[in-house]
Amino acid sequence: MTATTIDGKAFAAQVRGKVAEHVTRLKADHGITPGLAVVLVGEDPASQVYVRSKGKMTVEAGMKSVEHRLDADTSEADLLAVVDQLNNDPEIHGILVQLPLPGHLNEDLVINSINPEKDVDGFHISNVGLLGTGQKSMVPCTPLGCLMMLRAHHGSLSGMDAVVIGRSNIVGKPMAQLLLGDSCTVTIAHSRTKDLADVVQRADIVVAAVGRPEMVPGDWIKPGATVIDVGINRLDAPERGEGKTRLVGDVHYESCAEVAGAITPVPGGVGPMTIACLLANTVTACCRANGLAEPEGLTA
Ligand code: NDP
Repeated sequence: MTATTIDGKAFAAQVRGKVAEHVTRLKADHGITPGLAVVLVGEDPASQVYVRSKGKMTVEAGMKSVEHRLDADTSEADLLAVVDQLNNDPEIHGILVQLPLPGHLNEDLVINSINPEKDVDGFHISNVGLLGTGQKSMVPCTPLGCLMMLRAHHGSLSGMDAVVIGRSNIVGKPMAQLLLGDSCTVTIAHSRTKDLADVVQRADIVVAAVGRPEMVPGDWIKPGATVIDVGINRLDAPERGEGKTRLVGDVHYESCAEVAGAITPVPGGVGPMTIACLLANTVTACCRANGLAEPEGLTA
């Protein structure tokens, strides 16, 4: 069998298109422009790239984009003051504090200082609790993107066996909650799981969020299963020239694609969906803040 490729890049473009359409309607019908503020502390190069890209796509979707770039030695009090100002700004509907923060700042404290209704990353403890209890919440962007692709590919996920490899707060755990919400039978695997190959072989859906390059080989995959590869790992690629690198996921794409029914590539799978879902969450937050109907198909 050769797997169908789930084209996250194309899917993300569709999601961004829906977001842009909704933004146009919000402006025309209600005079409201959704606003997203991103706060970046320090000069981590990867974070700078993400923040630039988020800002660009926010503007392309017709929304207001605000960036706060703070020095690496910014005090916790000063950072909390910026968050507080954004919490009270009626033109800002989504606030994202780019992680990781420099070591002297308490990430939990900062994230939990964001108004949960503006917490478009879905990391605030209130949103974690709401998701865990099946209530309306802001849903973390990467797992939301995975869920959207799974729903689009399968329609209903009800009754499917799903294995999530990884139990982080930003990907593994919320992913498992979302799959449970869609009535999958969910197993969460992690570094202490015994006989991971055996666990994965039972799954109709495998979501790999581990951070280990090409860790899942094709012979772990049940024939016809759907494989969602969240991993982003950069490897040296001397064959491409001196100093060159290439991106790979947490699954071994070639061997898994021979067995799976469908698979997301890296790059071009889950990655583009993450920013698309950030924009979707901002529109959702804006609609909720204004008591308006939420856009269909853009939330869990
Ligand atoms: P974390 O490092 O926070 O979590 C990794 C998880 O993998 C942990 O739960 C860990 O288990 C588990 N794990 C580690 N080694 C093994 C192993 N040998 N067998 C089974 N489980 C193992 O990573 P994140 O969740 O933040 O990210 C995971 C991957 O997803 C990374 O590659 C990251 O770059 C990528 N990512 C991609 C995004 C995107 O937009 N596409 C967004 C966010 C992340 P334990 O808890 O026991 O230590």
